[in-house]
Amino acid sequence: MGRPKVALITGITGQDGSYLADFLLDQGYEVIGMVRRSSTVNFDRIRHIQDRITIAQGDLLDQMSIVDILREHRPHEVYNLAAQSFVPTSWKQPVLTGEFTALGVTRMLEAVRIVDPEIRFYQASSSEMFGKVKQTPQNEDTPFHPRSPYGVAKVYGHYITVNYRESYGLFACSGILFNHTSPRQGLEFFTPKITHGAVQIKRGQASKLYLGNLDARRDLGYTPDYVRAMWLMLQQDHPDDYVVASGETHSVREVCQLAFGQLGLNWEDYVVVDPQFLRPADVDLLVGDASKARRVLGWEPTLNFEALIHLMVQANLKAA
Ligand code: GDP
Repeated sequence: MGRPKVALITGITGQDGSYLADFLLDQGYEVIGMVRRSSTVNFDRIRHIQDRITIAQGDLLDQMSIVDILREHRPHEVYNLAAQSFVPTSWKQPVLTGEFTALGVTRMLEAVRIVDPEIRFYQASSSEMFGKVKQTPQNEDTPFHPRSPYGVAKVYGHYITVNYRESYGLFACSGILFNHTSPRQGLEFFTPKITHGAVQIKRGQASKLYLGNLDARRDLGYTPDYVRAMWLMLQQDHPDDYVVASGETHSVREVCQLAFGQLGLNWEDYVVVDPQFLRPADVDLLVGDASKARRVLGWEPTLNFEALIHLMVQANLKAA
């Protein structure tokens, strides 16, 4: 028996990282999670697997810490999911967002190049790169027009990944993932904010739900489906970039209608638009064309929009 496959995940304490760790453990991988030192690290999302994974302290801002982790653990695959990932925060901390979300990718790629250029590398790119969309639906060839410092930083991360593939022949893939949610997504993002808020109102624990732009449209999927696509990209014969999306678009308003409706409530009685949740520039319409991922990776989502909102509402009811 050879050494089991080893995967390093940055951002393992986040939504995507925790589901990817679950998935890779099921596949028989040894999983290393890179975590930034902090006096209050939040391990909630990986508590159920904490005794099956190895935590390594490192930081996307610290080049040597990444080199050291790769030298010590010698992973076969690296999944770079760590980032400052909340769009509104990126206007408040644009420089820090660039350090983590943009230059952090270069530091990861440099570490791979120096320690072991055979490592397969996954970069978490984002549909926010399409921003003010140039065509609909968006695919791998659609030009980017990011609308936030976060989107701008992700465009850099995408192109530096492509560049290291072309410059050094690294097996580096960029997955352009559209919005995806799950019961593990932070409550600041619109889907859990709405389903959690609707359940609170149903239970009499809140009377209103304050939201921003109700007309924004997103292509929304289920996170466990999306982390499977990340893994599939690294199992191919050649590195490439892929859009991962449901192919449907729904407005924030529709999510409200459905979530409140599933609880027997009329959303219009409770949702209030609060200007503090409006953005200096927003992304109006995202809808992805994942036909390449379906064709080449054999990827298929398992949950449609209605089933996903139902799952979110049920999870919030259960947690309450
Ligand atoms: P994003 O696509 O990564 O920015 O994901 P979000 O879940 O943060 O936001 C998705 C869309 O929902 C954006 O276009 C927001 O303008 C819109 N939106 C409307 N109300 C809210 C809100 O209260 N919170 C958040 N996060 N987004 C909202």
